[in-house]
Amino acid sequence: MAGAFIFAALLFPLSSCGLEPPLYETGFIAMDTYISLTVYGENAETAAKAAKEEILRIDTLMSAVNPDSEVSKINAMAGETVTVSDDTEKVIRAALKTAEKTDGALDITLRPVITEWGFTTGEYKIPDGETLNNLLKKVDYRSVRVGDNTVFLPFGEQIDLGAAAKGYAGDKAISVLKDYGVESAIVSLGGNVQALGAKTDGKKWNIAVKNPFVENSVSSISNICILGLKDAAVVTSGNYERYFEGEDGKRYHHIIDPSDGYPADNGIVSATIIGKTGLECDALSTAVFVMGAEKAEKLWREKGGFEMLLVTDDKRIIVTEGLSDVFTNLSDMKVTEIRK
Ligand code: ADP
Ligand code: MG
Repeated sequence: MAGAFIFAALLFPLSSCGLEPPLYETGFIAMDTYISLTVYGENAETAAKAAKEEILRIDTLMSAVNPDSEVSKINAMAGETVTVSDDTEKVIRAALKTAEKTDGALDITLRPVITEWGFTTGEYKIPDGETLNNLLKKVDYRSVRVGDNTVFLPFGEQIDLGAAAKGYAGDKAISVLKDYGVESAIVSLGGNVQALGAKTDGKKWNIAVKNPFVENSVSSISNICILGLKDAAVVTSGNYERYFEGEDGKRYHHIIDPSDGYPADNGIVSATIIGKTGLECDALSTAVFVMGAEKAEKLWREKGGFEMLLVTDDKRIIVTEGLSDVFTNLSDMKVTEIRK
């Protein structure tokens, strides 16, 4: 699948002077992407293994393609109330809150449309407008009811937590690492990078955001900028992450605009959200990608609570003012800073 496993961020090695604490690194495939854990400290190995187990547990709960997941149970039993874990409840609640905040740019009930395009199976096709309009009748995040460990979905509707589950898995992994006393780590899940603490020398992590115009490369020219951060989540949604080429020669990517059922086309090629939790950043990065720069700016001004970096299809970089001290441009694109 083209572009699916591109690293959205690269880490820079620690300086080699002084005594360094033990390091344990591991990489594996889960949540439909490549995941890597870079963990420092006495308990690094045990902690990393436990964090990996936690990510696999979240994947098992929330995968829409695993028939044994809670999400599949909710989908199979649409029309009835289903008992779910605290984890699934939490992710659904957060996604609905983001949907509310973004006028439905994020909509977890889009699954019937996502399936029609073939993004769930890899058997891609371009649906016709009428088919999409019919499927969109089954799309409405407001129809999802969440109670204490319960979810109700109207008959015929389907959910997909693909836009937010990786962020939550990152949060849970960080929390497990902390339980083991880890103070310095990077959890990287496809386009999501989550930093625990600072580097072992106390300096900020250098987290690189991929240049969406440079394809299939992991060299440094493939990065658009560096962000110097501690204790932060950096989540990117891009149209280069997963797409297919139609018989008409056009590219169709996997982030769908719930207003018409087509891949979002509002001028953004990549949307990066920087904030405290992976869950919020992940949900927002998908929503902001759909909304386009103007609406995203309005959301940032009115609601705040996050920073963002947008790359537009006319090759401009837009950054919010909170990033001005941490952002280093590596590209020749023009940078516009937006202020409150
Ligand atoms: P990635 O999975 O590449 O990191 P995202 O976090 O942006 O990217 O999530 C995209 C996934 O979310 C899609 O693969 C699809 O399953 C689902 N999705 C696509 N469009 C939307 C949307 N508007 N709202 C909610 N989920 C979406
Ligand atoms: Mg997302």
